[in-house]
Amino acid sequence: MERRRVGILGATGMVGQRFIQLLSNHPWFEIAWLAASDRSAGKTYAEACKWKLETPLPKRIAAMTLQPNVPEGSAIELPKIIFAALDADIARELEPKFAAAGCAVISNSSAFRMTADVPLVVPEVNSDHLALLETQSWRKDHGGRGGYIVTNPNCSAIGLVLALKPLEEKFGIESLFVSTMQAVSGAGYPGVASLDILGNVVPFIKNEEEKLQEEVGKLLGERKGAKIELLDAKVSAHCNRVAVEDGHTECVSIKLKKKATREEIIAAWSEFLPLQGQHLPTAPEQPVEYDEGVDRPQPRLDRMRGHGMTATVGRLRECTLLDWKFVVLSHNTIRGAAGAAVLNAEVLALLGKLDKLGVPLQAVSAKDGDQLKAAAVTA
Ligand code: NAP
Repeated sequence: MERRRVGILGATGMVGQRFIQLLSNHPWFEIAWLAASDRSAGKTYAEACKWKLETPLPKRIAAMTLQPNVPEGSAIELPKIIFAALDADIARELEPKFAAAGCAVISNSSAFRMTADVPLVVPEVNSDHLALLETQSWRKDHGGRGGYIVTNPNCSAIGLVLALKPLEEKFGIESLFVSTMQAVSGAGYPGVASLDILGNVVPFIKNEEEKLQEEVGKLLGERKGAKIELLDAKVSAHCNRVAVEDGHTECVSIKLKKKATREEIIAAWSEFLPLQGQHLPTAPEQPVEYDEGVDRPQPRLDRMRGHGMTATVGRLRECTLLDWKFVVLSHNTIRGAAGAAVLNAEVLALLGKLDKLGVPLQAVSAKDGDQLKAAAVTA
């Protein structure tokens, strides 16, 4: 099968580097275009990037020239699929330009996550929300020939909703209290100063608690036509930065609408296999894995389960304030960022939403949701 050409905006950052790592040998996608800030444009990737990952920088990528970060003016043809790893303020300005130019923008930033017609998606959780693409403004504003923006959630929200979705489905969620311990790679590079974080915990991450609370509501919300009705549950978050390299750990207490036993909750997690049989290259076999170990999950030991795409849950026990409490861990730059976006792109490909970009969606394919057990994607 011929691989689809893709581009990466913000290619030199922490998430951008994960995109390079995950897409370099991807069976469906081929990296054809890279961009970062104006400071980097015109340099080779090797010159512009401080490569921080454990696998070597692929030679082909190292030699690629960073293009201007706008849809026009590239020395090479702009791909129609753009993965974006930009800070929110920059994303707010640049992503709509690429969508307007007919690209499918698959974004990591918070800029448009809560915009009413932009899907905020974790494929195992709410792929039916992709129906919002049919009526998204960037498509409509360009005679149906514009592209679109799809977003994945904040790095802590992803691990959390993977653990919550099976519980919401089976028992309903009334309220939730979560306290996070977030890795330094979540702050990008160079991120938090070493003198602030070594031997320390910083109990503040700007806007993080608000993002976590509101994104959980949208992700677990119900799609009614072209609108998402937010989950009717109280969510309270504390977010902390800790001296861990990769992997966000979250301590969760939860009150359920329906009583559940320990065995029923663990079964809900292990039976949660919404993408099974879809053969998506980045989908883990087990999206949520329960570990019976008394001291698990731990970031160093568990973050790479499912190639970094599995959320590990452990320490399920009764809570004296709410009903149950547990710990969830997920890799913040893989499942929490680049891997999440690549999985979103694979689902879009499966649904035919990466075909014939620049052609009105109605004319593309109607094979919307019936291929995904998770949900029907038809509006
Ligand atoms: P980062 O390491 O700071 O990287 C930022 C990237 O944006 C770099 O490639 C940088 O290029 C580029 N850039 C900076 N200014 C620019 C401009 N004016 N125009 C175009 N490009 C510009 O940040 P990150 O951690 O990768 O995060 C990227 C996005 O993903 C953020 O929105 C973040 O919130 C989100 N996210 C991050 C994580 C995580 O765990 N790190 C998880 C989920 C979501 P230069 O090298 O040229 O400066």
